[in-house]
Amino acid sequence: MDSGQPPTENPSSREQQAPEIISRDDHCISRKRISKNALTVIYDLRRAGYEAYLVGGGVRDLLLERSPKDFDIATNATPEQVQQTFRRARIVGRRFRIAHVRFGREIIEVTTFRGSHDQVDESQRKNNKSQTNDQGMLVRDNVYGSLHDDAMRRDFTINALYYSIDGFSVLDYTGGIEDLKKRQIRIIGEASQRYAEDPVRMLRAIRFKAKFDFELETKTAAPIQSLGHLLAQVAPPRLFDEMIKLFLTGKGQKTFELLVEYRLFDTLFPSTAAFLNTSNADGNFDYQMIANALANTDKRVHNGQPVTPAFLYAALLWPVVHREAENIITDGTPRLRALQLAGHHAVDAQLSTIAIPKRFSIPMREIWTLQQRLETAHGKRAIAVLKHPRFRAAYDFLLLREETGESVNDRGIFWTELQKEHPVNREAIRQADKKRPRRRRKPSNKHQGESE
Ligand code: ATP
Ligand code: MG
Repeated sequence: MDSGQPPTENPSSREQQAPEIISRDDHCISRKRISKNALTVIYDLRRAGYEAYLVGGGVRDLLLERSPKDFDIATNATPEQVQQTFRRARIVGRRFRIAHVRFGREIIEVTTFRGSHDQVDESQRKNNKSQTNDQGMLVRDNVYGSLHDDAMRRDFTINALYYSIDGFSVLDYTGGIEDLKKRQIRIIGEASQRYAEDPVRMLRAIRFKAKFDFELETKTAAPIQSLGHLLAQVAPPRLFDEMIKLFLTGKGQKTFELLVEYRLFDTLFPSTAAFLNTSNADGNFDYQMIANALANTDKRVHNGQPVTPAFLYAALLWPVVHREAENIITDGTPRLRALQLAGHHAVDAQLSTIAIPKRFSIPMREIWTLQQRLETAHGKRAIAVLKHPRFRAAYDFLLLREETGESVNDRGIFWTELQKEHPVNREAIRQADKKRPRRRRKPSNKHQGESE
C-alpha cells in the first residue's frame, strides 16, 4: 500500500547519528522547573530498565526560559511496557499510539521512539503499524526505532531536543539549539514530504511562528502555500483540537493573519475565505471583524478570563451567515428565520472540514439569531433579552460588529445603558441554564469556558 513516497533528503551534516551534547553548565534547564510527575515517570522507566528523556515543547520552552504547557517523555519502552510500569497509564490513539500517565489533573504523555517508515517490512504493514494513503499521508505511525530515529521523525529541530537525567545534559541531533538561537523554525528532513505525511505540521509551523515570533526557515516555508489543500484530508476532530491551540492560546490574531498569508485559511474555512479580500486586508470588513474578534480573545487570554470556541466560530462564519441571511430575506422570509437558516447551512458546510461539537454550535447559532433581537428589541422585550443565557456573548458580538463598522442601528450604547439600569444576576441565569433538561448527554470536555 506504500504509494512510492519521494525519497528522504540526505540528512544534513548536523543531522547525524551521534548527537551534540550540551552539558549542564552550557544550558539553562534546571530540574526544579520540570514537573515532579514528569521526573517520576523518567526515573521509574529508567529503574525498569528503559531509556527515557524529556522532549519536545517542555525542553524547548525551558531553553527559552518560558513555562512549558506540558511535559512529554520519549522512551524505548512500548506503550504496553509503559502500561506495565505504571498502573495508572492508559494507551490512547490509533494513528499514533501513546501512553498517558495520569497524576491527578496532570497527564504526562509518554511516546515510544518512532522509527523510519522507509524500511518497514511486510509484517509491520500487515499489523497496521505503518500505513500511508495515496497522497503520502501517514494514517498509521507506529513504527518504533532508536533515539536517533525518533529525533528524525519529529517535526521541527527546536522540538527535537532531549533532556537526559544522566548528567542533566541536552542531546541535539538536528541543530535545534542553533535554530533556537537564530530564532527560526526549521523542519527536519524534506519539507514537502514531511507536510504530505502529516499536513497538521503546516499548522504547527504557523502556530510556533506566532507563539515565539520566530522566522520560518526558507525551505520550511516554501511549500506551505501550495500544499495547504492537504489539510482537507485531516480528520475533522483533530482539526478542531488544532483550532483551539491556534486561536485560543493568546496569539490568535497573529495566527489568523499568518494562516491567511500562507493560504491555509482557504482550506480550513473555505466558505469564509471566499469573502476575504487578501490583497486589501486592511480595508476588508470581514477580515477586520475576525481579526478584531481574535484581538479581543487574545486580551481575554492574557487577562486570565475564560474564552469559548463558540464566540470565535460565530465570528469566523459571520461573513457567510450574514450574507446568506440577506439573500434569504429577499424572498420575504423574516430576518430572524433567515439568520436561523443561514446559520444552520454555514455550520453544516463547515463540519465537513472541522468538527464543531454541538455544545459549541448551539450557542453559536444563538449568538447569530440574537443579533436580530439586539438590533430591534425595545421596552419589556429588551429587558427579557437581557435575561437570555446567551445575552452577554451576543452583546459582545454586537459590539464587535459595531466596532468593525457594520451598521447595527447604534444599538451598542442602548444595551450598555440598559444593563446598567437593569443589572441581571448572570450567575443565577447560568445555574438555571445548567439545570435545563438537555436532549443529549453533554460530553465532558476541557474547553467549556463561557464568553463573559
Ligand atoms: P506545545 O507547547 O503546544 O505543547 P509541543 O511542541 O510540545 O508544543 P505537542 O503537541 O505537545 O507540541 O507535541 C510534543 C512533541 O511531539 C513536539 O515537540 C514534537 O517533537 C512532536 N510532535 C508533535 N506533533 C508532531 C507531528 N505532527 N509531527 C512530528 N512530530 C510531532
Ligand atoms: Mg507539549
